[in-house]
Amino acid sequence: MSPSILLVPVAPLPARPALDALAARLADAFDRAVRVTDPVHAPAAARLEPDRLAAAPIRAAIAATWGCGCRDRLVGVTAADLAGDGPPGPAGCGGVLLLSAPGDAPLPGLVRAVGRSLGLADCPDPGCAMHPGGDAPGLCRACRGRC
Ligand SMILES: [Zn+2]
Repeated sequence: MSPSILLVPVAPLPARPALDALAARLADAFDRAVRVTDPVHAPAAARLEPDRLAAAPIRAAIAATWGCGCRDRLVGVTAADLAGDGPPGPAGCGGVLLLSAPGDAPLPGLVRAVGRSLGLADCPDPGCAMHPGGDAPGLCRACRGRC
């Protein structure tokens, strides 16, 4: 069975309906169980400004609570801006993906960021959730076979 996706809210928290909408989109697109966990508190070292967080200490805090990312795909979600968030690590072990999801963040872009962390690339099929700029809810057959 494919590993499930854990959405870990990090304060400042995204609105609960936005989190639930993202969880539903991810479950549909990637055909995996998606769970929204209890929030993880951002360590003091992560708080650069009220609405800006440093990525590395948050990754560490999420990993300390939920493990290295071997078993589940770990996705931290915050309403704040993120500083120092490089590209996510390779799919599989060792990765905590962080998403900045303020209230107006479009869901398709967030779904694609998670898809990339699962090893998918941008897809030329306009009917695919990995198509840049598209908003299809599901993956094309080729991408489905890849994740
Ligand atoms: Zn595709």
